[in-house]
Amino acid sequence: MDKSTIADIMRRFSISKASAINDNMVHKDIALLNAGPYSRPTHVTLNLSTKCNYNCPICSINKAKKLFPKYHNNMISKETVERMHSFFDYSQSVSFMGLLGEPLLNPDFFNIVDYFRKNTTASLAVSTNGLLLTKENRDNFISSSFENLTFSLHAASEHVYEKLQAGKFKRTVDNLKSLIQERNSKKQIYPKLSVVHAINWWNIHELPIFMDLMKEAAPDSVYIYHYHDYQGIKDNISLKNGDAQLANQLINSAYDYAKKIGIHEIISPQDPPVITAQVKKTDVIFNDKISCDLPWRGLQMRGCITHADSHYVGCCNVFNIFRLNYKEFKEPFRNVWHHPVLKYIRETLRDETSNPLCRYCKSPERAYLKATDNKKNNDRKAMALAEFYNAFNARFGDVSQFDSKGLTALKEDPADIRLE
Ligand code: SF4
Repeated sequence: MDKSTIADIMRRFSISKASAINDNMVHKDIALLNAGPYSRPTHVTLNLSTKCNYNCPICSINKAKKLFPKYHNNMISKETVERMHSFFDYSQSVSFMGLLGEPLLNPDFFNIVDYFRKNTTASLAVSTNGLLLTKENRDNFISSSFENLTFSLHAASEHVYEKLQAGKFKRTVDNLKSLIQERNSKKQIYPKLSVVHAINWWNIHELPIFMDLMKEAAPDSVYIYHYHDYQGIKDNISLKNGDAQLANQLINSAYDYAKKIGIHEIISPQDPPVITAQVKKTDVIFNDKISCDLPWRGLQMRGCITHADSHYVGCCNVFNIFRLNYKEFKEPFRNVWHHPVLKYIRETLRDETSNPLCRYCKSPERAYLKATDNKKNNDRKAMALAEFYNAFNARFGDVSQFDSKGLTALKEDPADIRLE
């Protein structure tokens, strides 16, 4: 074994040991409900591009482009990621997702992958529309043993794909099949391929054809989302309460069909419950203790389109706490991680009465509204957020006093986040 190989093994060993120690510390911080944890985040989401090569009618990117003429196509560089090393150093998983955009458009994509490979032991994941999975990119994914690749494929035919994703159906499906075949022929297990398919009234009738397509392509897993409210899109795309019975019949028969053709094991379970069951759940008074460890584990850096070189940052995808300009912010990571708002969430998450935002987040009401009336869900969340900051301000004073260069606390969800 040459010296560089030995050095590489030693380096990986010391990184993984440090990561294991951090994980141990996370457990202790959570057990003690430590508001200013010694540990660092283990699960990171990092948006690499707010630009997209598609213009899916069902994506909020369309509304965003109309509402924000100064739409910023932000792409973080490898140099910036390196400078922000302490944001990611102990991460166990890093997901290149985070709201809008196609990650593979970032010209530094594989350089950033290389940075994470060399400096962390994190498993990597990306969500893509698949158009840029050229032979070169497919080879890069396979040779870097990139762990998880998720395709968004919401149609099983050219014309429905055109309506929902307005892209190149055949090329996308061919790229998916080629990647699976090339990976298998090299006897590699990575990347694992998942397909995400969100059901709505425009595609639900071709669900059996979609099952056939999945049998042919043979990805590792298929996630079928039963309900989502696409705010403001016309032509009755969203499933409504009155549609539940027919929708459920169609879903049931498609799952029966998946079983018949032998692919049920790769399809996600038939949960979440159907809309009628969710309605019943809202009748239950919510009094469970909140169990969430994301304020200790999670770091979400989501795409921001209203400001240059910026991310929305929080510990989960519900609460966007700051806008962080990654070119301007030069302070230590603890100024984010130990920010008074994050400390306050950790303190109040599991209180007898818990803070209003986390309480709303975990309520059955939210699950129901997200599926049936996302506008109402956003309004309810805005109320919970206002209550949260009323309580925070009463204790600490106005949150803006903690702002610094490149770091701005958000008192409400920004307009581009509300488009989701
Ligand atoms: S808002 Fe929800 S996901 Fe975020 S910290 Fe609170 S309970 Fe956890």
